[in-house]
Amino acid sequence: MKIICIGRNYAEHAKELNNPLPTKPVVFLKPATALLVNNKPLYYPEFTSELHYELEIVLKIAKNGRHVQPEFASDYYKEIALGIDFTARDLQQECKEKGLPWEVAKAFDGSAVLSPFVPVSSVNRQAIEFELRKNGKAVQHGNTQNLIFSFEEIIVYVSRFFKLQMGDLIYTGTPAGVGPVQVGDKLDGYLYTHQEVMHLLRCEVK
Ligand code: ZN
Repeated sequence: MKIICIGRNYAEHAKELNNPLPTKPVVFLKPATALLVNNKPLYYPEFTSELHYELEIVLKIAKNGRHVQPEFASDYYKEIALGIDFTARDLQQECKEKGLPWEVAKAFDGSAVLSPFVPVSSVNRQAIEFELRKNGKAVQHGNTQNLIFSFEEIIVYVSRFFKLQMGDLIYTGTPAGVGPVQVGDKLDGYLYTHQEVMHLLRCEVK
């Protein structure tokens, strides 16, 4: 299983970090050891003093494929989840300035929080809304209408380089509103389904 992540996929978020809008998807990977499931807490890592949350929609890849053609891309995921792409922003800034890879800032243990999955049929596929609350206060509200690269475009692009395999995860990018967490903060992720605003994810920073 691999975890594929897309950076800078919402214009407002790219702007808030002073990044140019990408002309093709920004792709990076996390190892399986980054996964944090079952609402387990994240222990604040000692190597950073600027740990940021990024709430994202996560796709679970439903079949194997490489060089996926656009007309078939939507067959490659049937379930979605919420995820937090935890980022050591200070380390990432250092890597960016030096032109170095991001893994130490993005792919550390516990950096890929993952909620349970729901069928994609339970949401408005064209405009999936989701929200992150920090200590009860809404800090990020996303709508996949505002994606720069759609889920299908991501699948087409990524599968040119990496064979997609059943069970792979794709973190599809975060909307604006990213920010720091402190020890003791409680993060809650909500997904807007046809029926309800579903409390799908909880992560406490310890
Ligand atoms: Zn991210």
